[in-house]
Amino acid sequence: MNIILFGPPGVGKGTQGTRLSEDYGFLPIAMGDLLRSEVKEGSDLGLKAKTYMDVGALVPDAVVIGMIESRIVADDAAKGFVLDGFPRNVVQAEALVDMLAKHAVLIDRVVFMQANKAVLVERLSGRLICSACGFGFHRHHSPPEKEGCCDRCGGTLYQRDDDCEDVIESRLKVYVTQTAPLLDYYSGSDLFRSVDAEGDLDDIYSRLQQALGEIN
Ligand code: ADP
Ligand code: ZN
Repeated sequence: MNIILFGPPGVGKGTQGTRLSEDYGFLPIAMGDLLRSEVKEGSDLGLKAKTYMDVGALVPDAVVIGMIESRIVADDAAKGFVLDGFPRNVVQAEALVDMLAKHAVLIDRVVFMQANKAVLVERLSGRLICSACGFGFHRHHSPPEKEGCCDRCGGTLYQRDDDCEDVIESRLKVYVTQTAPLLDYYSGSDLFRSVDAEGDLDDIYSRLQQALGEIN
């Protein structure tokens, strides 16, 4: 099953997408993670991307479109993938259509996750991420057992540079102007589902599973 998760920053695409991938053996393809690993490596692409990410702007379409194709057709995507953070605007959505057609890959579900702005800001500003395994925690809602330390692997937790107040505000604005139009783009499709992403993590996950229908 090939799934697109979309929705505002902080809605839980990464958290829920990771869980889905672990439970069903899908390949997680998270555009933000791919970009952050380029930044970490210090590649030319990473250096370029960082200037946009630091201020909460979208990295140019040509850059992200170029990065996604090889992932979608990778051997480990054969059992399915969960695409998160791409597409983020209509140009990217159209590029994805061409890419999928070229490789005869079909999307089974496009899931829109929604939560109100106060919830998003609160989740983003309290978020902590493991520098070793990438697992996410929250200062108040799901704190690690030992402060600063990942429960899963013992790695050091950090706060993302763009999870600060100013940049969160910019990312939410960019979402409204550039990504939210994808709702119109996808909502007429049979594949489209919308999921309430507020509340308890397990409840959200159950709603997501329901939205996906029978998972193969
Ligand atoms: P979030 O969804 O919480 O904002 P991500 O990790 O998905 O976080 O993205 C972080 C940043 O990476 C974005 O603010 C943007 O700068 C860049 N980015 C991620 N995906 C894309 C994309 N599809 N197109 C352009 N830029 C992107
Ligand atoms: Zn960890």
